[in-house]
Amino acid sequence: MKMKQLSPEKVKIGRDLLKRLSLCVSKHRNYIVLRDQKMILKNLSKKYQVTAGATDVYMSLPSSVKSSDVKKLVMDHVEDAKHEHGHGGYSGSWAEVGSVKVTDLVFDSKQEAQDYLDKTIQKYEAAIAVRYKKKAFASKDHETKYKGELEAKIGKDASIKKLTGQFEKAEAVYKKALSDLGQHKTDLSSKIMKPDASHLSCHNCKSKVAKQYVKNLSRHYAEYDNSYSNDTYAWDSKGLHASKLPNCPVCNDSLMNPVQKKAMEKVVSDLEKKRDAVVSLKKELGTKKKETSDQIAKKFTNEEMPWLIAACVPE
Ligand SMILES: [Zn+2]
Repeated sequence: MKMKQLSPEKVKIGRDLLKRLSLCVSKHRNYIVLRDQKMILKNLSKKYQVTAGATDVYMSLPSSVKSSDVKKLVMDHVEDAKHEHGHGGYSGSWAEVGSVKVTDLVFDSKQEAQDYLDKTIQKYEAAIAVRYKKKAFASKDHETKYKGELEAKIGKDASIKKLTGQFEKAEAVYKKALSDLGQHKTDLSSKIMKPDASHLSCHNCKSKVAKQYVKNLSRHYAEYDNSYSNDTYAWDSKGLHASKLPNCPVCNDSLMNPVQKKAMEKVVSDLEKKRDAVVSLKKELGTKKKETSDQIAKKFTNEEMPWLIAACVPE
Protein backbone atom coordinates (compact mmCIF):
# COMPACT_ATOMS: atom_id res chain seq x y z
CA MET A 1 0.00 0.00 0.00
CA LYS A 2 1.37 3.38 -0.99
CA MET A 3 0.41 6.32 1.21
CA LYS A 4 0.53 10.00 0.48
CA GLN A 5 3.44 11.62 2.33
CA LEU A 6 2.35 13.76 5.30
CA SER A 7 4.03 17.02 6.18
CA PRO A 8 6.46 16.86 9.13
CA GLU A 9 4.08 19.04 11.18
CA LYS A 10 1.22 16.56 10.73
CA VAL A 11 3.48 13.66 11.69
CA LYS A 12 4.47 15.58 14.81
CA ILE A 13 0.80 16.20 15.73
CA GLY A 14 0.14 12.48 15.32
CA ARG A 15 3.11 11.50 17.42
CA ASP A 16 2.11 13.87 20.27
CA LEU A 17 -1.44 12.60 20.15
CA LEU A 18 -0.28 9.01 20.40
CA LYS A 19 1.97 9.84 23.30
CA ARG A 20 -0.75 11.68 25.25
CA LEU A 21 -3.20 8.87 24.66
CA SER A 22 -0.73 6.20 25.79
CA LEU A 23 0.02 8.19 28.93
CA CYS A 24 -3.55 8.76 30.01
CA VAL A 25 -4.75 5.23 29.31
CA SER A 26 -1.84 3.41 30.91
CA LYS A 27 -2.78 5.19 34.17
CA HIS A 28 -6.10 3.37 34.19
CA ARG A 29 -4.47 -0.06 34.35
CA ASN A 30 -7.67 -1.47 32.95
CA TYR A 31 -7.16 -4.11 30.33
CA ILE A 32 -10.38 -3.48 28.44
CA VAL A 33 -9.46 0.17 28.12
CA LEU A 34 -5.99 -0.94 27.18
CA ARG A 35 -7.36 -3.07 24.36
CA ASP A 36 -9.45 -0.19 23.01
CA GLN A 37 -6.49 2.11 23.33
CA LYS A 38 -4.45 -0.22 21.22
CA MET A 39 -7.08 -0.20 18.48
CA ILE A 40 -7.15 3.60 18.56
CA LEU A 41 -3.37 3.77 18.60
CA LYS A 42 -3.19 1.45 15.63
CA ASN A 43 -5.60 3.57 13.60
CA LEU A 44 -3.87 6.78 14.60
CA SER A 45 -0.46 5.38 13.66
CA LYS A 46 -1.88 4.57 10.27
CA LYS A 47 -3.53 7.96 9.82
CA TYR A 48 -0.46 9.94 10.81
CA GLN A 49 2.05 7.53 9.34
CA VAL A 50 3.86 7.24 12.63
CA THR A 51 5.64 3.93 12.65
CA ALA A 52 4.94 1.88 15.70
CA GLY A 53 7.32 -1.05 15.45
CA ALA A 54 7.67 -4.05 17.69
CA THR A 55 10.43 -5.95 19.39
CA ASP A 56 10.68 -9.17 21.39
CA VAL A 57 11.74 -9.07 25.03
CA TYR A 58 12.86 -12.06 27.07
CA MET A 59 13.43 -12.84 30.71
CA SER A 60 14.15 -15.99 32.62
CA LEU A 61 13.38 -17.23 36.10
CA PRO A 62 15.10 -20.09 37.93
CA SER A 63 13.72 -23.61 38.34
CA SER A 64 12.86 -22.95 41.96
CA VAL A 65 10.09 -20.48 41.03
CA LYS A 66 6.67 -22.08 41.39
CA SER A 67 4.13 -21.77 38.60
CA SER A 68 1.85 -19.76 40.88
CA ASP A 69 4.58 -17.17 41.54
CA VAL A 70 5.65 -16.53 37.95
CA LYS A 71 2.99 -13.92 37.22
CA LYS A 72 3.82 -11.80 40.26
CA LEU A 73 7.58 -11.89 39.57
CA VAL A 74 7.11 -10.93 35.93
CA MET A 75 4.74 -8.07 36.82
CA ASP A 76 7.25 -6.84 39.44
CA HIS A 77 9.76 -6.74 36.62
CA VAL A 78 7.25 -4.81 34.49
CA GLU A 79 6.80 -2.24 37.30
CA ASP A 80 10.57 -1.79 37.51
CA ALA A 81 10.72 -1.30 33.76
CA LYS A 82 8.00 1.36 33.98
CA HIS A 83 10.08 3.32 36.47
CA GLU A 84 13.01 3.05 34.14
CA HIS A 85 11.33 3.64 30.77
CA GLY A 86 8.27 5.71 31.70
CA HIS A 87 4.77 5.29 30.32
CA GLY A 88 5.29 6.42 26.75
CA GLY A 89 3.89 3.23 25.27
CA TYR A 90 6.69 2.62 22.78
CA SER A 91 9.74 1.89 24.90
CA GLY A 92 10.31 -1.56 23.40
CA SER A 93 10.79 -2.85 26.94
CA TRP A 94 8.98 -4.89 29.61
CA ALA A 95 7.24 -1.62 30.58
CA GLU A 96 4.79 -2.29 27.71
CA VAL A 97 3.66 -5.69 29.01
CA GLY A 98 0.12 -5.79 30.42
CA SER A 99 -0.25 -9.39 31.59
CA VAL A 100 1.35 -12.84 31.60
CA LYS A 101 0.02 -16.19 30.48
CA VAL A 102 1.72 -18.94 32.48
CA THR A 103 1.60 -22.25 30.61
CA ASP A 104 2.55 -25.76 31.73
CA LEU A 105 4.59 -26.40 28.59
CA VAL A 106 8.04 -27.93 29.07
CA PHE A 107 10.51 -28.02 26.16
CA ASP A 108 13.53 -30.31 25.79
CA SER A 109 15.91 -27.40 25.26
CA LYS A 110 16.13 -23.66 25.58
CA GLN A 111 16.26 -23.35 21.80
CA GLU A 112 12.97 -25.21 21.41
CA ALA A 113 11.36 -23.02 24.05
CA GLN A 114 12.63 -19.93 22.30
CA ASP A 115 11.42 -21.13 18.88
CA TYR A 116 7.96 -21.72 20.32
CA LEU A 117 7.84 -18.30 21.96
CA ASP A 118 9.08 -16.53 18.83
CA LYS A 119 6.23 -18.10 16.88
CA THR A 120 3.55 -17.50 19.49
CA ILE A 121 3.97 -14.08 21.08
CA GLN A 122 1.98 -11.27 19.49
CA LYS A 123 2.28 -7.53 19.69
CA TYR A 124 -0.05 -6.05 22.38
CA GLU A 125 -0.85 -9.51 23.76
CA ALA A 126 0.13 -11.10 27.07
CA ALA A 127 3.68 -12.29 27.72
CA ILE A 128 3.96 -16.09 27.67
CA ALA A 129 5.88 -18.19 30.19
CA VAL A 130 7.15 -21.72 29.39
CA ARG A 131 9.74 -24.04 30.90
CA TYR A 132 12.62 -25.96 29.39
CA LYS A 133 14.84 -28.81 30.57
CA LYS A 134 18.37 -27.93 31.50
CA LYS A 135 21.16 -29.96 33.02
CA ALA A 136 22.83 -28.01 35.79
CA PHE A 137 25.78 -28.91 37.97
CA ALA A 138 24.75 -29.79 41.49
CA SER A 139 27.59 -27.61 42.83
CA LYS A 140 30.78 -25.82 41.81
CA ASP A 141 32.69 -28.82 43.14
CA HIS A 142 30.71 -31.14 40.87
CA GLU A 143 31.57 -28.98 37.90
CA THR A 144 35.30 -29.16 38.65
CA LYS A 145 35.09 -32.93 39.02
CA TYR A 146 33.24 -33.21 35.72
CA LYS A 147 35.88 -31.17 33.89
CA GLY A 148 38.72 -33.24 35.35
CA GLU A 149 37.08 -36.53 34.48
CA LEU A 150 36.23 -35.39 30.96
CA GLU A 151 39.77 -34.25 30.25
CA ALA A 152 41.22 -37.51 31.54
CA LYS A 153 38.73 -39.58 29.54
CA ILE A 154 39.30 -37.67 26.30
CA GLY A 155 43.05 -37.93 26.74
CA LYS A 156 42.84 -41.71 27.20
CA ASP A 157 40.02 -42.69 24.87
CA ALA A 158 41.51 -44.66 21.98
CA SER A 159 38.77 -43.91 19.47
CA ILE A 160 38.90 -40.15 20.18
CA LYS A 161 42.68 -40.19 19.87
CA LYS A 162 42.45 -41.99 16.55
CA LEU A 163 39.80 -39.63 15.20
CA THR A 164 41.77 -36.57 16.32
CA GLY A 165 44.82 -37.86 14.47
CA GLN A 166 42.79 -38.50 11.31
CA PHE A 167 41.17 -35.09 11.52
CA GLU A 168 44.46 -33.22 11.96
CA LYS A 169 45.99 -35.08 9.06
CA ALA A 170 43.03 -34.44 6.76
CA GLU A 171 43.03 -30.77 7.70
CA ALA A 172 46.71 -30.42 6.90
CA VAL A 173 46.19 -32.15 3.54
CA TYR A 174 43.31 -29.82 2.71
CA LYS A 175 45.23 -26.68 3.67
CA LYS A 176 48.21 -27.79 1.60
CA ALA A 177 45.93 -28.47 -1.40
CA LEU A 178 44.40 -25.00 -1.04
CA SER A 179 47.75 -23.33 -1.06
CA ASP A 180 48.91 -25.49 -4.00
CA LEU A 181 45.84 -24.39 -5.89
CA GLY A 182 46.81 -20.76 -5.34
CA GLN A 183 50.22 -21.45 -6.83
CA HIS A 184 48.71 -23.49 -9.65
CA LYS A 185 46.41 -20.62 -10.59
CA THR A 186 49.25 -18.12 -10.51
CA ASP A 187 51.28 -20.31 -12.90
CA LEU A 188 48.29 -21.00 -15.12
CA SER A 189 47.45 -17.33 -15.28
CA SER A 190 50.95 -16.47 -16.53
CA LYS A 191 50.55 -19.14 -19.22
CA ILE A 192 47.16 -17.78 -20.29
CA MET A 193 48.55 -14.24 -20.41
CA LYS A 194 51.31 -15.38 -22.83
CA PRO A 195 54.24 -13.07 -21.97
CA ASP A 196 55.36 -12.65 -25.59
CA ALA A 197 51.97 -12.13 -27.28
CA SER A 198 50.19 -8.79 -27.77
CA HIS A 199 46.76 -10.38 -28.30
CA LEU A 200 44.88 -13.30 -26.73
CA SER A 201 42.32 -15.58 -28.39
CA CYS A 202 39.10 -16.71 -26.75
CA HIS A 203 38.22 -20.39 -27.20
CA ASN A 204 34.58 -19.68 -26.59
CA CYS A 205 33.62 -16.69 -28.76
CA LYS A 206 36.72 -16.78 -30.98
CA SER A 207 37.49 -13.09 -30.30
CA LYS A 208 41.03 -11.83 -30.53
CA VAL A 209 41.56 -9.24 -27.81
CA ALA A 210 44.44 -6.89 -27.03
CA LYS A 211 46.02 -7.97 -23.74
CA GLN A 212 45.56 -4.60 -22.08
CA TYR A 213 41.79 -5.33 -21.89
CA VAL A 214 42.25 -8.57 -19.97
CA LYS A 215 42.36 -8.34 -16.20
CA ASN A 216 45.17 -10.34 -14.64
CA LEU A 217 44.53 -10.92 -10.95
CA SER A 218 47.17 -13.60 -10.47
CA ARG A 219 48.95 -11.97 -7.55
CA HIS A 220 45.78 -12.38 -5.43
CA TYR A 221 45.28 -16.09 -5.99
CA ALA A 222 47.45 -17.57 -3.29
CA GLU A 223 45.99 -15.25 -0.70
CA TYR A 224 42.36 -15.78 -1.74
CA ASP A 225 42.57 -19.53 -2.03
CA ASN A 226 43.77 -19.77 1.53
CA SER A 227 40.78 -17.95 2.93
CA TYR A 228 37.94 -20.12 4.14
CA SER A 229 35.75 -20.28 7.18
CA ASN A 230 37.25 -22.42 9.93
CA ASP A 231 33.89 -23.72 11.08
CA THR A 232 32.69 -25.27 7.86
CA TYR A 233 35.91 -25.31 5.86
CA ALA A 234 33.84 -23.82 3.10
CA TRP A 235 35.33 -21.16 0.92
CA ASP A 236 33.94 -17.77 1.65
CA SER A 237 33.08 -15.19 -0.98
CA LYS A 238 36.71 -14.28 -1.32
CA GLY A 239 37.71 -17.89 -1.73
CA LEU A 240 38.19 -20.28 -4.60
CA HIS A 241 35.12 -19.36 -6.60
CA ALA A 242 35.81 -15.63 -6.46
CA SER A 243 39.40 -15.84 -7.62
CA LYS A 244 38.81 -16.40 -11.27
CA LEU A 245 41.46 -16.80 -13.87
CA PRO A 246 41.63 -14.21 -16.66
CA ASN A 247 38.29 -13.88 -18.47
CA CYS A 248 37.46 -12.86 -22.02
CA PRO A 249 36.26 -9.23 -21.95
CA VAL A 250 33.84 -9.97 -24.82
CA CYS A 251 31.96 -13.10 -23.67
CA ASN A 252 33.20 -13.21 -20.05
CA ASP A 253 34.13 -16.90 -20.34
CA SER A 254 37.47 -18.07 -18.96
CA LEU A 255 40.46 -17.71 -21.27
CA MET A 256 41.67 -21.20 -20.31
CA ASN A 257 41.90 -23.56 -23.27
CA PRO A 258 39.74 -26.74 -23.13
CA VAL A 259 42.62 -28.86 -21.78
CA GLN A 260 43.42 -26.35 -19.04
CA LYS A 261 39.71 -26.10 -18.16
CA LYS A 262 39.35 -29.83 -17.79
CA ALA A 263 42.47 -30.03 -15.64
CA MET A 264 41.20 -27.20 -13.42
CA GLU A 265 37.85 -28.93 -12.92
CA LYS A 266 39.67 -32.00 -11.67
CA VAL A 267 41.83 -29.97 -9.29
CA VAL A 268 38.73 -28.31 -7.85
CA SER A 269 36.77 -31.55 -7.47
CA ASP A 270 39.74 -33.23 -5.71
CA LEU A 271 39.95 -30.25 -3.42
CA GLU A 272 36.26 -30.47 -2.60
CA LYS A 273 36.66 -34.14 -1.70
CA LYS A 274 39.49 -33.24 0.68
CA ARG A 275 37.34 -30.51 2.20
CA ASP A 276 34.40 -32.91 2.67
CA ALA A 277 36.69 -35.37 4.46
CA VAL A 278 37.76 -32.67 6.92
CA VAL A 279 34.19 -31.58 7.58
CA SER A 280 32.93 -35.12 8.15
CA LEU A 281 35.82 -36.00 10.49
CA LYS A 282 35.27 -32.82 12.46
CA LYS A 283 31.59 -33.69 12.83
CA GLU A 284 32.34 -37.24 13.90
CA LEU A 285 34.86 -36.03 16.46
CA GLY A 286 32.38 -33.49 17.80
CA THR A 287 29.68 -36.14 18.21
CA LYS A 288 32.08 -38.53 19.95
CA LYS A 289 33.27 -35.83 22.35
CA LYS A 290 29.71 -34.79 23.09
CA GLU A 291 28.69 -38.39 23.87
CA THR A 292 31.59 -38.71 26.27
CA SER A 293 30.79 -35.38 27.87
CA ASP A 294 27.08 -36.22 28.28
CA GLN A 295 27.94 -39.57 29.85
CA ILE A 296 30.21 -38.00 32.47
CA ALA A 297 27.91 -35.01 33.00
CA LYS A 298 25.10 -37.40 34.02
CA LYS A 299 26.97 -38.22 37.22
CA PHE A 300 27.41 -34.61 38.29
CA THR A 301 24.29 -32.80 37.11
CA ASN A 302 20.65 -32.49 38.07
CA GLU A 303 17.82 -31.76 35.71
CA GLU A 304 16.33 -28.33 36.19
CA MET A 305 13.38 -26.66 34.53
CA PRO A 306 13.92 -22.91 34.41
CA TRP A 307 11.34 -20.49 33.00
CA LEU A 308 11.65 -18.55 29.79
CA ILE A 309 9.21 -15.68 29.39
CA ALA A 310 8.76 -13.58 26.28
CA ALA A 311 6.58 -10.78 24.98
CA CYS A 312 6.31 -8.79 21.77
CA VAL A 313 6.15 -5.10 22.67
CA PRO A 314 5.69 -1.88 20.72
CA GLU A 315 8.66 0.38 20.27
ZN1 LIG B 1 35.15 -14.80 -25.53
